[in-house]
Amino acid sequence: MGLNVFNTLSRSVEPFVPLDPDGKKVGIYCCGPTVHDFAHIGNFRTFVFADVVRRYLTFRGFNVNHVMNITDVEDKIIRRVNESGKSLSEYTNEFEKAFFKDLKTLGCLMPDEQPHATKFIGPIIKLIKKLEKNGIAYSTGDGSVYFSIEKYRKAGNQYGQLLNLNLDEMRPGERVSNDEYEKESVADFALWKSRVPEDGEVFWNSPWGEGRPGWHIECSAMSMELLGPSFDLHLGGEDLVFPHHEDEIAQSEGACMHSNGKKFVKYWMHGAHLLVEGKKMSKSLGNFFTLRDLLAKGFDGREVRYLMISAHYRETFNFTLDNLEGAKTAMSRIDECTAKLHELTLGQTAEPVNDSPLISGFTEAMDNDLNVSAAWAAVFDWVRDTNRKLTSSGLDSAAAATELANWEQINSVLGIKSREAKAPAEILVLAEQRQAARKAKDFARSDQIRDELANQGWIIEDTPNGPRVKRG
Ligand code: AMP
Ligand code: ZN
Repeated sequence: MGLNVFNTLSRSVEPFVPLDPDGKKVGIYCCGPTVHDFAHIGNFRTFVFADVVRRYLTFRGFNVNHVMNITDVEDKIIRRVNESGKSLSEYTNEFEKAFFKDLKTLGCLMPDEQPHATKFIGPIIKLIKKLEKNGIAYSTGDGSVYFSIEKYRKAGNQYGQLLNLNLDEMRPGERVSNDEYEKESVADFALWKSRVPEDGEVFWNSPWGEGRPGWHIECSAMSMELLGPSFDLHLGGEDLVFPHHEDEIAQSEGACMHSNGKKFVKYWMHGAHLLVEGKKMSKSLGNFFTLRDLLAKGFDGREVRYLMISAHYRETFNFTLDNLEGAKTAMSRIDECTAKLHELTLGQTAEPVNDSPLISGFTEAMDNDLNVSAAWAAVFDWVRDTNRKLTSSGLDSAAAATELANWEQINSVLGIKSREAKAPAEILVLAEQRQAARKAKDFARSDQIRDELANQGWIIEDTPNGPRVKRG
């Protein structure tokens, strides 16, 4: 079986077949962060989901080009810039830096390209002009430009591809200028917003006068500029289905008139929300944690990552600190097992075995619309089985190396960093000093060092192959 994914466009699970005639290249666009503040871990659930999709496609042999934009100009940002007294870039740079740092802490691979909306004003204007030429965009007296849903539909296009919309109640020509609106207020939306005093110094020149782009057109322009008018996969959180993604489709298909049978995007995948006590984690509800908050509580990035990918991407789940404690336990089970395998390999390496129960179980689960629950079940079955073999000394160094290679193969998708590798140099120095003290039979000193390590959250385990440092 090959990979199957749930496509929001068809509301069904479909085989994943890229547009590339050779079936190799895959273009992915994921809507990136709006850098108006620190991202919360709800936002990161979506980015970790995108990272797993990208990693799994690579694991499945595709040649992936992963684009994730940075939304560095839109309504919320402009409001904050005004309050801060900083320039647009001064303001957004700080949050962008923090975002990428957190992304790395969470074990995400850097997207191949990270376009910024403010660097794509030329392509955005070009796209709006195309829509004007096609008779779908119209300018208003104040120098703003809007997308006409009526004209778009009259030209034979469908508005409401990702969800059912009741367009009969729509009053033609009614407009909405905000970047965000509910589906009950579906109306012509802004492509270009003319400069108003509240915009301060955030504006660009355009054929319609000074102004700035609407949020939706930014993603249409950046994605098509980098991936072409039709690409394979578009990702985002479920709240982006409407209006953001529906408007992206309308703008892109309205400008390029995808008449060759190809759509703007072949597959749309949406990640469900991270909740807190049943409500979406969000800045506006104030029920959010940032990654910093959790690191300060003593958790690490991989525990947060594990928690985020322990539930199916299309299921919402409640975030609690207790769940995160559970993630700690799960991680240490994997750590214990892989560390023991490492000791046994005595430096030997091996090739992974694709039809091993671990790799085949994992692949079968993930092929089924990324069924992570079944994938983790394969992992923990393997941990149990390997531990059993380890206790009964049923593994020689070559077998241990193969087990480790199998784990590393699937961990190229899970992206769980190894804990052992993370012991900082000063901790390793202390561990060596303790070893020296023990050799010299200075047990008082060796105990003292052990206590010092414990104070810093590390424990030393004595194994037949020498001492091993691990998190306490
Ligand atoms: P924003 O920075 O607000 O544009 O959001 C960035 C990404 O986070 C988008 O794909 C949103 O859909 C997603 N997102 C926002 N809140 C949550 C949440 N509570 N759970 C999962 N994803 C979210
Ligand atoms: Zn977007």
